[in-house]
Amino acid sequence: MVDPGMTTNTDCIFCKIVAGEIPANVVLDTPGALAFLDVAPLAPGHTLLVPRSHHKQISDLSPDAMAEVTRHLPELARAVTTAVGAEGTNVLQNNGSVAGQVVNHVHFHIIPRFDKDGLGFRWSAGTYATGEADALIAKIKEQLA
Ligand code: AMP
Ligand code: ZN
Repeated sequence: MVDPGMTTNTDCIFCKIVAGEIPANVVLDTPGALAFLDVAPLAPGHTLLVPRSHHKQISDLSPDAMAEVTRHLPELARAVTTAVGAEGTNVLQNNGSVAGQVVNHVHFHIIPRFDKDGLGFRWSAGTYATGEADALIAKIKEQLA
């Protein structure tokens, strides 16, 4: 199913790839999504999966539009992992410049991982003070209601 709210942004590099206006190494092409090799790979096979429709962040996607693109993640992860002989994958999805988003068109990175590949990120785990989690749960549930 094609996203009924299909939008495009003439300034967006991924919209240009979707429209075929600039070249890309496309590995998957469906009515709702496109996957192509990242031009600056963190590892061989580093692939980007994007919805055809222009939306900046996942919070801008309808549940159906999200399902239409993410349904391809399992097959892509399998294909990429096998093709490059990786031992694992990270699926990374950045929202907002503070989170590392550079291209403002929703995309999922499929990054093949190898033993001792040197990739990694700082995972500075914290803790909750007494009552802090309860207060947060209440706030999040209020937003979800
Ligand atoms: P992000 O930081 O999550 O916005 O990631 C954007 C990604 O898009 C980066 O990994 C870039 O290398 C990649 N990228 C930018 N332009 C292109 C392009 N024309 N073709 C393929 N990948 C691209
Ligand atoms: Zn776009």
